[in-house]
Amino acid sequence: LGHISIAGVSKSYGRFKALDDVSLELPPGSVTVILGPSGSGKSTLLRAINHLERVDEGFIRIDGDYIGYRRKGNRLYELKEKAILKQRIGVGYVFQNFNLFPHLTVLENIIEAPLAHKQLSRTDAERRALQLLETVGLRHKADAWPRHLSGGQQQRVAIARALALNPKVILFDEPTSALDPELVGEVLDTIKQLARSGTTLVVVTHEIGFAREVADNVVFMVEGKIVEQGSAGQVLNQP
Ligand code: ADP
Ligand code: ADP
Repeated sequence: LGHISIAGVSKSYGRFKALDDVSLELPPGSVTVILGPSGSGKSTLLRAINHLERVDEGFIRIDGDYIGYRRKGNRLYELKEKAILKQRIGVGYVFQNFNLFPHLTVLENIIEAPLAHKQLSRTDAERRALQLLETVGLRHKADAWPRHLSGGQQQRVAIARALALNPKVILFDEPTSALDPELVGEVLDTIKQLARSGTTLVVVTHEIGFAREVADNVVFMVEGKIVEQGSAGQVLNQP
């Protein structure tokens, strides 16, 4: 599970085309790294996959569920709106600036979504949160406040939080750009560990070394378009 199909997706802000006819197939369990200059549409694409952003045209499918628009002749038909919430629960999102709830402890940050969606009892949610903290190496920080953690630790908590709903897909939007250089490695290592777990990952990053080492698929965007796509070797080793 976790197959993402993106077909002919466009999105404009006024007259500015942030995404211009983007199509992409992301097989289950694959790791895709999206590279490209600032303003090339990378974040807009991630937000579209998670339906934080409505597309103007095209569709995005995760496993069976289609969301977006389909063109028939001159007309656009909107597809299944009500599948959106269901589908979003299957997609984790990790932001550049961690976005932890500052008034909740580390453990409370992780159990918030499973409790809100009534997926687990409090006892089970806490047990699962502690397991997730163990996997990101922060079991001992369960009762800490986010502001008392380093940026790298906060981002690892954000990853544990994204995992709490058992997503099929996790989207990372520049997960290491806000970190001091010495903290980048621990977050990339956590993502590498996830890459082996069978979850479909999409990572917007400028970390070329990470792309070479981990990506099955590298996508290079310029001005809202995909201009290169292939294995890390194909895209990054051009003469
Ligand atoms: P990237 O992630 O590659 O830096 P973005 O997807 O954030 O690029 O943005 C692509 C372009 O779309 C940028 O020029 C940005 O200013 C513009 N943009 C993004 N969101 C909005 C918005 N809500 N309203 C207007 N323009 C936007
Ligand atoms: P990124 O770090 O991905 O490049 P940006 O700084 O471009 O992000 O955008 C941050 C937020 O501001 C996004 O939610 C985006 O939609 C919004 N945004 C970006 N550019 C514009 C714009 N020109 N007008 C309105 N909102 C914008």
